Amino acid sequence: MSYHRYDAVIVGAGGAGLMTAIQMAGKANIAVVSKLYPPRSHTGAAQGGVAAALGNTEEDHWEWHMFDTVKGGDYLVDQDAAAILARDAIDAVYELEHMGLPFNRTPDGLIDQRRFGGHSRNFGEGPVRRACYAADRTGHMIIQTLYQQGIKHNVTFRDEEFLLDVLFSENGECCGVVTRELTTGEYHVLHAKAVMIATGGFGRMFKITSNAMAGTGDGVAIPYRRGVPVMDMEFYQFHPTGLYKLGILLSEAARGEGGILRNNEGEAFAARYAPTMKDLAPRDMVSRFIYEEVKAGRGIDGKDYVHLDLTHLPPEVIDAKLPDITDFARTYLNVEPKTQPVPIQPTAHYAMGGLPTDLDGRVLADASGNVIPGLYAAGESACVSVHGANRLGTNSLVDLIVFGRRAGRHMLKFVDDTSHPTMPANPDRPAREEIDEIVARPSGENAAEIRERLQDVMMDKVSVVRNAGGMNEALAEVESLRNAYKNVAIQDKGNIFNTDLTEALECGYMLDLAEALIIGALAREESRGAHYRTDFEKRDDSNWLAHTVVKMKGDKLELTKKPVTVTTFEPKERVY
Ligand SMILES: Cc1cc2nc3c(=O)[nH]c(=O)nc-3n(C[C@H](O)[C@H](O)[C@H](O)COP(=O)(O)OP(=O)(O)OC[C@H]3O[C@@H](n4cnc5c(N)ncnc54)[C@H](O)[C@@H]3O)c2cc1C
Repeated sequence: MSYHRYDAVIVGAGGAGLMTAIQMAGKANIAVVSKLYPPRSHTGAAQGGVAAALGNTEEDHWEWHMFDTVKGGDYLVDQDAAAILARDAIDAVYELEHMGLPFNRTPDGLIDQRRFGGHSRNFGEGPVRRACYAADRTGHMIIQTLYQQGIKHNVTFRDEEFLLDVLFSENGECCGVVTRELTTGEYHVLHAKAVMIATGGFGRMFKITSNAMAGTGDGVAIPYRRGVPVMDMEFYQFHPTGLYKLGILLSEAARGEGGILRNNEGEAFAARYAPTMKDLAPRDMVSRFIYEEVKAGRGIDGKDYVHLDLTHLPPEVIDAKLPDITDFARTYLNVEPKTQPVPIQPTAHYAMGGLPTDLDGRVLADASGNVIPGLYAAGESACVSVHGANRLGTNSLVDLIVFGRRAGRHMLKFVDDTSHPTMPANPDRPAREEIDEIVARPSGENAAEIRERLQDVMMDKVSVVRNAGGMNEALAEVESLRNAYKNVAIQDKGNIFNTDLTEALECGYMLDLAEALIIGALAREESRGAHYRTDFEKRDDSNWLAHTVVKMKGDKLELTKKPVTVTTFEPKERVY
């Protein structure tokens, strides 16, 4: 084991981690830990855009953006956080531009903007162009730009190093992390005054997902096992347009540029459900529209998918603005989007829930809002909460840069004012013992099989449409898989790039998060945003205008409610 001392450790080199790191670079001794080479982080896969009310192509205001965010999140959004998101988005996007991000441009040379689901003009009157974009490679451009800035500012990157544990002092201060180098199997203890968790989401717990293999929620599950709460886990977003059977995302930008969803009769059915926003209603709703069409027998060929029609778009628009996603359709489905409709179905996409934080990224210890000294979170692994019950498209990238930036600035002050807390004795022991046990087991349960069963049951019983019967079955299956996992065994016993071991660990993290997700979903006896229950079809503000906070206490899970911050927009029925 080797020991290292930093002011701060940032775990995760996606948009959130890198934005945090850039605030601190050169001003504090920091390290960025990532299980992937940084540009391979999931942020690089983001396609459609980043929201900011620049008003470059038509009138827009940050207050409209805030309203759309709150309404899109079915009023579960904390409105003080939404105000910061919408207001600071403008500045943060210009900051990216000044770092050199190659946005698409208007003829006048301004950052071009396009439509996206749920973004409206004048508090809901109709679509507005708010998404700033770089073709359909916005995330790729963001991650390249931020990574280059990191290199330029001499940030220490600890690539291909896997987070195994988060450390706390006797007084409950976060004091570092334990990692394992993937290339060698060597353990490292990184002693720090502050730790940022920016490890992204956990879509891989579902069978059909847009998330890459690395989206397994490690950084949420590890502190959760140590008693740190998770919030609003039941809100998991299904994006309406994943490639049929594969889940690979076709960005909402396709509908923003004029793409239309059609059923087996060729009908543009979204207009029937959302007369104003039509295909650009928020994702939770459009996913349910598809579910209803399929249930009514209007799926294509009687199956569980519909068509995304781009054939009426000028071919030059497709080539210039949607090049990558239309290539996905050609490559993976052998469909030419210029002349043929693309088969699509909802795909597990985004975790609205995660580690609860305050407005500066400090992780909360409980539903009363007490913070855990030294522990921060940002990005998809965090829940601040700006997305509430349903995130709007292009609001994740802006969340990363706005709250990554705020957290980085706060961490900088914090590490300036604090000394290193004392670490526990043998800090790497629990992580090492867990791994030794798995490696030493001569035979046992297979992690890949456990993961597959988890993905199947989560997809069948806890996805776009839920009810108590199905979720109880899912909970029983997850409990039995968690039991099986106690006896998990791997074949590769080596230290060098042991993907067998990595995948087994990731599977364990997803099992714990799936359990928390189902517990929250069962408790929430209402339908709101992405959480739609056939046994409780209405939103219930009198009982459930509240966040759920789930905490591990020994073998038990404790669920409490945290009030939603309402500052400006009183909850109303969502109509689009
Ligand atoms: C296909 C697709 C398209 C999208 N398009 C858009 C869009 O157009 N606009 C928008 O706003 N949002 C979009 N999103 C959502 C958005 O891209 C993500 O929510 C966001 O990029 C997450 O960023 P992050 O920094 O939180 O995490 P990520 O970018 O996922 O980074 C996570 C980091 O954590 C590291 N990590 C994880 N576990 C460990 C561990 N155990 N040890 C060490 N390191 C670890 C990883 O190596 C990685 O560096 C899209 C998502 C997908 C899947």
